[in-house]
Amino acid sequence: MTAKPAAAAARATVYGYPRQGPDRELKKAVEGYWKGRVSADALRETAAGLRRSNWRQLAEAGIHEVPSGDFSFYDHVLDTSVMVGAVPERHRAAVRADALDGYFAMARGNQDIAPLEMTKWFDTNYHYLVPELAPETVFCADSAKQVAEFREALALGHTPRPVLVGPVTYLLLAKPAPGVDVEFEPLTLLDRLLPVYAEVLADLRAAGAAWVQLDEPALVQDRTPAELDAVARAYRELGGLTDRPRLLVASYFDRLGDALPVLAKSPVEGLALDFTESAAGNVEDLAAAGGLPGKRLVAGVVNGRNIWINDYEKSLATLGTLLGLADQVDVAASCSLLHVPLDTEPESDIDPEILRWLAFARQKTKEVVTLAAGLTAGTDAIAQQIAANRADLASRADSPVTYDPVVQARADAVTDAEGRRSQPYPERAASQRAHLALPLLPTTTIGSFPQTGELRAARADLRAGRIDTIRYDQRIEAEIAEVISFQEKAGLDVLVHGEPERNDMVQYFAEQLTGYLATRHGWVQSYGTRYVRPPVLAGDISRPDPMTVRWTSYAQSLTGRPVKGMLTGPVTMLAWSFVRDDQPLGDTARQVALALRDEVNDLEAAGTSVIQVDEPALRETLPLRTADHAAYLAWATESFRLTTSGVRPDTQIHTHMCYAEFGDIVEAIDDLDADVISLEAARSHMQVAHELAEHGYPREAGPGVYDIHSPRIPSIREAVALLRKGLEAIPAERLWVNPDCGLKTRGWPETRTSLENLVAAAREVRADLAAEKA
Ligand code: GLN
Ligand code: ZN
Repeated sequence: MTAKPAAAAARATVYGYPRQGPDRELKKAVEGYWKGRVSADALRETAAGLRRSNWRQLAEAGIHEVPSGDFSFYDHVLDTSVMVGAVPERHRAAVRADALDGYFAMARGNQDIAPLEMTKWFDTNYHYLVPELAPETVFCADSAKQVAEFREALALGHTPRPVLVGPVTYLLLAKPAPGVDVEFEPLTLLDRLLPVYAEVLADLRAAGAAWVQLDEPALVQDRTPAELDAVARAYRELGGLTDRPRLLVASYFDRLGDALPVLAKSPVEGLALDFTESAAGNVEDLAAAGGLPGKRLVAGVVNGRNIWINDYEKSLATLGTLLGLADQVDVAASCSLLHVPLDTEPESDIDPEILRWLAFARQKTKEVVTLAAGLTAGTDAIAQQIAANRADLASRADSPVTYDPVVQARADAVTDAEGRRSQPYPERAASQRAHLALPLLPTTTIGSFPQTGELRAARADLRAGRIDTIRYDQRIEAEIAEVISFQEKAGLDVLVHGEPERNDMVQYFAEQLTGYLATRHGWVQSYGTRYVRPPVLAGDISRPDPMTVRWTSYAQSLTGRPVKGMLTGPVTMLAWSFVRDDQPLGDTARQVALALRDEVNDLEAAGTSVIQVDEPALRETLPLRTADHAAYLAWATESFRLTTSGVRPDTQIHTHMCYAEFGDIVEAIDDLDADVISLEAARSHMQVAHELAEHGYPREAGPGVYDIHSPRIPSIREAVALLRKGLEAIPAERLWVNPDCGLKTRGWPETRTSLENLVAAAREVRADLAAEKA
């Protein structure tokens, strides 16, 4: 395969770059500012320095057009709210008093005012602040940040392209402000918003911007005809402006689908599309729409949200096809590089043989540049890079890290029966009742107890070699003993060991499974100043040794009451890791499930009668397009069942999920075939209990009666009221009493009283029920 030289030189570009800096300087500066240790000027200086070094890095790598305006102190959707003047009423005073403090008040709230709500940016692990809009919202343009950052880059000698959240996506991501009718659709504000975008575009034009990028990722989700009409109207109007830069409308994460012909026909000068695996279909759809005659196409062929090196030959083949479909084809990463860590170079702990398979933002930038060069000058011009790339890919494919024949054979041999409990739910529920002998309305918790400063210090001491494993283990055991003794005194029915040994619910297991890699500096922004280091699912997964049995058994040895074992489920293990790109997700999930299945079986063999498999990510991993839901839910539920079906009928399987909105997956939840589910419910006042009942959910459920997201202690009366509400939907024989989620972020004092109140509430309602019966 050789790509013909392109008519015009292909430009290399990206849509955004990690903001934090090589040593998370931004996090330190912002948090320092919050604590009053860093001045506003110093914070701005740090930010400018980070932008400067990012642009320099990009330009030195050979990127032609650098992004501007993608930098953020907290979140780019919040920046967009500021840009269009959509500051909620309750934050106006703070913003008026000080723009920067007001900005952070919107992000984090303060003593008196609640922040904006936060939610996931599409199917990534980045969270944005949800714009709050109302029928009476009046927008007004504030282009200051965009213009200033554009000028900054220009003055440094770069060719910046401002990147903005597009108007349609902005409105589709918004929600009705508190107190506004929930039926209100923010998209109805489009005509009021467009003039504000027109003003910002004019300001950027005046500052010298040739191109502006408008990100419209919301268009890769299923859109109604009315929404597609809004897209057409928006870009007809913005395209029709006379005083504006050229417009590049970008989409990513999935195929553009029905919105593609709409945008292709609109009077914008360019489209940016995702051409990675997750957006398969874009090439065909583009051809079917007749290509983009007269327009610029920016081809996202380098995966912007995974950490594997690109396959040059495959990308060049795609780019070659695209040459025939647009006037100008440029090369980019599929989405902002915000979703990957900065640089593989400092990863000195990773075997160089493995490191050569990985590409973080810096390496991806080079890939984009190389591919653009190949597209411009023909593949011969990058023959050396192609050869090296081929060798790197081969090294990965042939490595024993990637491929373990034992794991593959076991996964291939899985039978349907292995994914099914040996008895149907009603029968096993009876044997569990007999085996566990729990009272009506049994009380339990979700697994973790407060992760105290001492626990974190012990882990740091162990890492630094200040204490040895024996000392560390003693500290963990002491903590478990305290947690068990508290629960016995408090009167809980199903106890937990408190998870003191876990740094994180995914990392803890990843560190013990073969086939997983950990990075030292691979930080990725989760939200605001919170960064995570997702582990890498690098190869076939196996479990060399039991992972949790020792701690659960120790806890069980201290009490006569049942102690529940807790594991993180296969879907969540995938969702919060970087996944393999060389096999279907379902295959990886099945391998993880088999490793966890061994753990579940070992827990049972060690005398654990209640085992909980947490799947808080089950819903958030739902694909962006409805057409893909069924296939995802099939492997997701299968892997959960494979994890949990190897146990005896009298062993009780629990699952836990953290959210209240699960309407669209309630059937899948039933399909997990767990015996008990605990869910968030305190904030939604038991709404979930009613939804479960409406769907005829036949199993036991514990809608949370204690909101662990706040330090507030629920009173006995409050918990009783919630339980009574729960009883209206779920019969007493099937209702559990528990908090919303794990207690690891809470302090001990409030945890103690809250759980005592929870037990008291359960006892009171039990007594009432007994009296009613008598
Ligand atoms: N077992 C975990 C805990 O209690 C569950 C956490 C979660 O669902 N996010 O911390
Ligand atoms: Zn939870």
